[in-house]
Amino acid sequence: MDAGADSSFPLQRWLTGPRFTGLPARSVNHPPPKLSFEFFPPRTEALEQQLWTCIKRLAPLQPRFVSVTYGAGGTTQARTHATVVRLLRETSLVPAAHLTCVGAPRDAVEDVARQYWDAGVRHIVALRGDAPPGQAYAPHPGGYAYAVDLVEGLRKVADFDISVAAYPEVHPSASSPVGDLDNLKRKLDAGATRAITQYFFDTSVYLRFLDLCLAAGIKAPIVPGIMPVSNFAQAVKFSDMCGASIPAWMTQLFQGTEDDPETRRMLGLVIAAEQVRLLQANGVDEFHFYTLNRPDLTFAIAHVLGVRASGGGASV
Ligand SMILES: Cc1cc2nc3c(=O)[nH]c(=O)nc-3n(C[C@H](O)[C@H](O)[C@H](O)COP(=O)(O)OP(=O)(O)OC[C@H]3O[C@@H](n4cnc5c(N)ncnc54)[C@H](O)[C@@H]3O)c2cc1C
Repeated sequence: MDAGADSSFPLQRWLTGPRFTGLPARSVNHPPPKLSFEFFPPRTEALEQQLWTCIKRLAPLQPRFVSVTYGAGGTTQARTHATVVRLLRETSLVPAAHLTCVGAPRDAVEDVARQYWDAGVRHIVALRGDAPPGQAYAPHPGGYAYAVDLVEGLRKVADFDISVAAYPEVHPSASSPVGDLDNLKRKLDAGATRAITQYFFDTSVYLRFLDLCLAAGIKAPIVPGIMPVSNFAQAVKFSDMCGASIPAWMTQLFQGTEDDPETRRMLGLVIAAEQVRLLQANGVDEFHFYTLNRPDLTFAIAHVLGVRASGGGASV
C-alpha cells in the first residue's frame, strides 16, 4: 500500500494532522491523547504500598494500558507476574507484562507467556533484555536471540497484543542507525502492533526519527516514552547506560539544584510538560510515561495534556 495515499494509520495521521498552538482545549477536533503508564515491580512491602498509591492516583486518568517491567535477566519474573495478576484481579486497568528473552531457553520464556495468557493477560511488551553489567550480550544457546524472534514465538503461543522497543537515538549496540531501524521494522512486521521509545529529551531527535520510520514504511505508532526527571544525577547515570543523551540546556537548567529537591521536581515538570506539548503540537496523540512508581509529575503532565481524572474511569 502507498503510505502517502492513506492517512488512516497512526504515524501518517500524526505527521499530517492539524497543528495547534497554545495550551490545549478539549474539543471534538482535539480530544485528549491516549496515555499508558509504566511501573516496576516492588521489592519490599514499603515499595508495594508506594506502587499501589501510585496506581490509585493514576487509574482515574483511564490509561489505555499500564505496563510492568521485567528485571534484568528475568530477575523479577515472580514479582512482575504477581503485580500484573494483582492489577487484573483488583482493578479494571489493562495490564501489559514486559518479557525478555535474555539468558533463558525458549520453552521457559514460552511457559511464562502461557502463564500470562492463562491468567488473562493479553498484552506483552516483548524485549531482548541485556547481559549482566560488564558482559557483552550473547543469546542463550536454546533461546530467542533477539526481540524479533521473541515476537515470532509469542505469536505462536497466543494472540497477544505485542509492543516492542524503539530507539530514537539508536540502540547503543546497534551496528548502524539503518540496521537498528530495519530491526524495528522487522519487529513490527513480525506482529508487534506498536513500538514504545526509549526516553529522550531532545524532541527534534524523536520527530526526525518518526520521519525515518515513515520513510522505512512503518505505519504502527511509535509511542514516545516520556521520563519526567526529578532526580537529575540519577537520570544522568541511567541515560549513560541506555544511550539517551542529556542536552546541554538540561544540565544547565538543573545546575545549582543539587540540594533543592523541590525546585528539581518543578523543573522536571516544566521540562516534561514542555516536551509533551511540543509533541502534541506536532500531532502526536499517544504517550507512554515512565512513572518510576511516582504519580505526581505524570499526573500533572497528563493534566497539561488535557487528560482529566474521571469518576467513571478505571476502578482500583
Ligand atoms: C519501552 C522499553 C521497555 C523496556 N523494558 C525492559 C524491561 O522490562 N526489562 C529489561 O530487562 N529491559 C527493558 N528494556 C531495555 C531493553 O531490554 C534493552 O534496551 C535491550 O538492550 C534491547 O532490547 P530490544 O528489545 O530493543 O532488543 P532488540 O530489538 O533485539 O535489539 C537489540 C540490539 O540488537 C540489534 N540486533 C537486532 N537483531 C540483530 C541481529 N540479527 N544481529 C545483530 N544485531 C541485531 C539491534 O539493532 C539492537 O542494537 C526496555 C526498553 C524500552 C525502550
